[in-house]
Amino acid sequence: MLTSSEVAAKYKISNRQVNDLLTYGYLNVAQVLRHEKRGVALLFSESELERLDIPSLLAEIRAKKGPAKIRNPMEFKKLLKAFNYHDRFMEDVEHYPESEILKTCFYLFHLNHYAKTYPESSKDLYSLKSRVLKKMYQEHRGVLKASYLLGPDRQRIWLCEDCKEASRAAGMSYNKYIQNESYCPKCDVQILEREYYSLVEFYLKVGDYRFVFHTPRSLAAGWMKDMQELPQGTRKADRYQDKMYLYGRPISNIEEKAFPLAMLKEKLIEYLDQVADE
Ligand SMILES: [Zn+2]
Repeated sequence: MLTSSEVAAKYKISNRQVNDLLTYGYLNVAQVLRHEKRGVALLFSESELERLDIPSLLAEIRAKKGPAKIRNPMEFKKLLKAFNYHDRFMEDVEHYPESEILKTCFYLFHLNHYAKTYPESSKDLYSLKSRVLKKMYQEHRGVLKASYLLGPDRQRIWLCEDCKEASRAAGMSYNKYIQNESYCPKCDVQILEREYYSLVEFYLKVGDYRFVFHTPRSLAAGWMKDMQELPQGTRKADRYQDKMYLYGRPISNIEEKAFPLAMLKEKLIEYLDQVADE
């Protein structure tokens, strides 16, 4: 493990460049060392560093940053702020009887971010997410609440001749025309899967903390026995993202990036392995 300054010395780059590699997502924090008074030291894995082509990554970052005036030297500060949030969060929730589920929600929220960012591992991560939601829901009924959001069917549409003509006249592709829901009752609609876009929403509010998680109906159907009895809502738009609120405000992108995936997985698997204490 190397500290930020050790990485800089070893690869003959500046500390700022190490921070850039981190904030642009090319380098992951392998471990976080916490000092007594809330300070943190970030540690990086030597084997991960050896796999990186640092000069070309730095060139990529320079290209992404564009002209110097829009560079953002605040990024690293924000990252440190995120670590401090983590510490405050963990300290604060200690006092709640729901501290375990709150911590688990914290890790789960960040895991979800990785699942969205890395399609190649998203299947595994979403499956882990589903197992954690199941355990939390079954063991903390009153704390984690669920509702059922009714979504549209997955369907395939063949435009009728009139609609094809109308779409051409509008200079629109058939797909675009269908997306705009401009098709008519004469068009042929085949339902591929009913309620494909339905979701189960999980919601938790304890003190100042709020978490919202979503899972596709099909994933929850495997273990949720009372799905039909849940309060129902309608899924209105596409933007059903998981949310976490710290001190009443949603957390920022940079905060989402601050926690290493390996740590999150470890914590969540640890939680899954626990036997319910009742
Ligand atoms: Zn039509």
